Amino acid sequence: EYCSVPSQDHDYGMEDYGKGVARWCPGCGGHSILTTVQRVCKDMQYEPEKTVVVSGIGCSGRFPHYMGTYGFHGLHGRAFPVASGVKFRRPDLNVFVVTGDGDCCSIGAAHWVHAIRYNMKMVALLFDNGIYGLTKKQTSPTSPLGTHSNTHPRGSVLPPINPIQTTLGLANVSFVAQTVDWNSAHLYATVRKAAEHPGLAFVRIVQRCPAFMRDLYGDIAVNPKNLILLSHENGINLKPKARKAFGRVIEHDPSNIHKAREHAEINNGIPIGLLYQNTDNARYDEYGAHNLGMGVEEKKQNLESLLDQYS
Ligand code: SF4
Ligand code: MG
Repeated sequence: EYCSVPSQDHDYGMEDYGKGVARWCPGCGGHSILTTVQRVCKDMQYEPEKTVVVSGIGCSGRFPHYMGTYGFHGLHGRAFPVASGVKFRRPDLNVFVVTGDGDCCSIGAAHWVHAIRYNMKMVALLFDNGIYGLTKKQTSPTSPLGTHSNTHPRGSVLPPINPIQTTLGLANVSFVAQTVDWNSAHLYATVRKAAEHPGLAFVRIVQRCPAFMRDLYGDIAVNPKNLILLSHENGINLKPKARKAFGRVIEHDPSNIHKAREHAEINNGIPIGLLYQNTDNARYDEYGAHNLGMGVEEKKQNLESLLDQYS
């Protein structure tokens, strides 16, 4: 209810959400994610001047430069606190957070944990290519075991963080989905579902990086049978024709967090779909929105009514 209402005077087109060619490598997964976010903004008729994209540092950090909306290209790992500040003071704005696997899961990990707990309405997109791409191939927290990189030429030695499994273990988590950049139907359906969620929607996008991880996600992307679709009427729905592309389809109820955690651990393919959604969780931006312009006594009453609502 705090999102911007589409203007009656405009019919926004794709060109209103960004122009020009993004300066990512040819074949980079970032290109399809950019087009998808622009399409979702257009289909939701978000007012460009009431939409903000916040990023950290990394290849994904360039995202706000390519959007025709407001944007903030922030410090390394700090996309979440900047986005949280924007949303808290201006709950009427549509907020997207764009972060990478190094940005979110390493230097920004503390902010990731608390942004999930604050559960302010925004779409968080984790561009996970399993490597530090901008700085030319260092092991990241999500690099698969044995990844050859400039920091580990003989292969990385630590097991990677599983971002969806981690997020599903955090306090007040309300939405976790996983998708891949090379399945445009699923990518669109996922970002759209995330944009419609009333709290913080965390989406891990497995992203191709042909410059440095060609063997890994390049090979997986060639064979769509490596994708496992998590399907449910309350999940992310695809047309019957699009469903045929998947190697396996698993029926999964996204209200079941225990099953979501089990599916997050699947490692003989990439499970994609809506793992978990709960629309009743406490939201800190509601507290902020109610507080704007209030006196001390009103703020106290507001807090009490929110505590009643969520207890
Ligand atoms: Fe994309 Fe990888 Fe090139 Fe970065 S280095 S722009 S992630 S292909
Ligand atoms: Mg990366």
